[in-house]
Amino acid sequence: MNKNYEKLLEYIEKSIAMSSALAIFEWDNETLAPESAIENTSKIMGILAKENHKALINDEVKELLATLEQEDDLTLTERKTVEKLKKEYEQLNAVTAEEYQEYNELTAKSANAWAKAKEQNDFSVFAPFLEKIIAFNKKMAANRSKDEGSIYNVLLDDFEEEFTTDVLDKFFEELKKGILPLANKIKDKEDSINFDFLRKDYDIEKQKEFNRFLAEYVGFDFSKGVIAESEHPFTTNWHNHDVRITTHYYKNMPESAIFSTIHEAGHALYEMNVADKYTMTMLAGGTSMGVHESQSRFMENFIGRSEAFWKPIYSKLQETFPENLEDVELSDFMKAVNRVEHGFIRTEADELTYSIHVIIRYEIEKMFMEGDVNIDELPQIWNDKYEEYLGIKPENVSEGILQDIHWSQGSIGYFPSYALGSAFAAQFFHKMQEEINVEEALLDGDMAKITTWLKENIHQYGSSKNAKELLKDVTGEKLNTKYYIEYLTEKYSKLYDL
Ligand code: ZN
Repeated sequence: MNKNYEKLLEYIEKSIAMSSALAIFEWDNETLAPESAIENTSKIMGILAKENHKALINDEVKELLATLEQEDDLTLTERKTVEKLKKEYEQLNAVTAEEYQEYNELTAKSANAWAKAKEQNDFSVFAPFLEKIIAFNKKMAANRSKDEGSIYNVLLDDFEEEFTTDVLDKFFEELKKGILPLANKIKDKEDSINFDFLRKDYDIEKQKEFNRFLAEYVGFDFSKGVIAESEHPFTTNWHNHDVRITTHYYKNMPESAIFSTIHEAGHALYEMNVADKYTMTMLAGGTSMGVHESQSRFMENFIGRSEAFWKPIYSKLQETFPENLEDVELSDFMKAVNRVEHGFIRTEADELTYSIHVIIRYEIEKMFMEGDVNIDELPQIWNDKYEEYLGIKPENVSEGILQDIHWSQGSIGYFPSYALGSAFAAQFFHKMQEEINVEEALLDGDMAKITTWLKENIHQYGSSKNAKELLKDVTGEKLNTKYYIEYLTEKYSKLYDL
């Protein structure tokens, strides 16, 4: 191995150790930590973040990166690692270690304030935190910006390389054109599907048992992972042998946990299936949030909401809840879990209106990143957009602007990943169906056939290819929204007899 590269690895490993420690606290804060822990935990997290900053941002690393960029005896993996680290170096170098510490303390506290604000239905509890987070991100993005373009692009690039506002504006216009007329046509027919049986009492302990079965059924490996509970379901991981997911159980909405478990298991499979050669390196883990969402949304929607998926296992669900489902036919269950609802909550949204929720968030982020928006006006802006696009107006901030955790954690530029992920997933799904008989595999209960395809084509590469490269290598073309729109049109025209 190249001597300079070997030296660089020491710094990388130290940084991975620091960020792993930080991630354990993040996981703990969302799952088990008692409420009063946050004041001190946020301090610890700030210090860890500062140490992480110092491990990477120093003259030795700077010199090593400059030298390694000129060397020609690096392997492909080594060269990709240098490229990735250089990007991270520039990202972290935009702020001092002290500022970085302060920011990490702020986001730890802010996530807590968000939860309180949401619970109390009071935006003013969260507003001062949000104001600071936006200001910090604007400053950091401006420092990192290399040209005159939008500073929002700097943040977007962290989640999906090269998907700038120009690309996204076009992408979302195409989605609006394809989805809004279809959603409008369905609006009057929303009541035609019965889902009363999903609003009965579903024992939480039994739900837990069933969701554990479900995770295992789609391929989640419990020797490398755990399931916990949190307000907002998410996936985190330290490496491919320690992947954690959460879900959230509602007594009168069993489908919420069911589909969030399948969704998070989709994220988890991606992480678990990355090749071991990338473990604990810069190339470990999913390549971007968009590709990550393509894997979770693929599992949740294209697979998890299909009748072929449920055919072998629906009787198990009926046996778990005979009092509610004994007389419910599979076809009626499928209609109920696929029905369209012009609702307020993104995480509970159906596949059709889902991207509209994302468009609203994208437009608001673009607005506050590129212009001056008074923080106090954001709830109103949010509500107006819901009225404009979905024809409904949230009655309170918990169902409105406070519903998502992302901004409180400093994740600005993340939301477009959800819509991109759905579009990537449709394109991958189209290709997969050309190569294997997906429906037959599902009817046979042979999930491994599907997950093996995903592993071979996508998962194993970790971060060694970005979204654009993966799309090209797997499907032979760049992002094409045609597949997603065709899939939605066909599915919902059939479901609502259009
Ligand atoms: Zn997700």
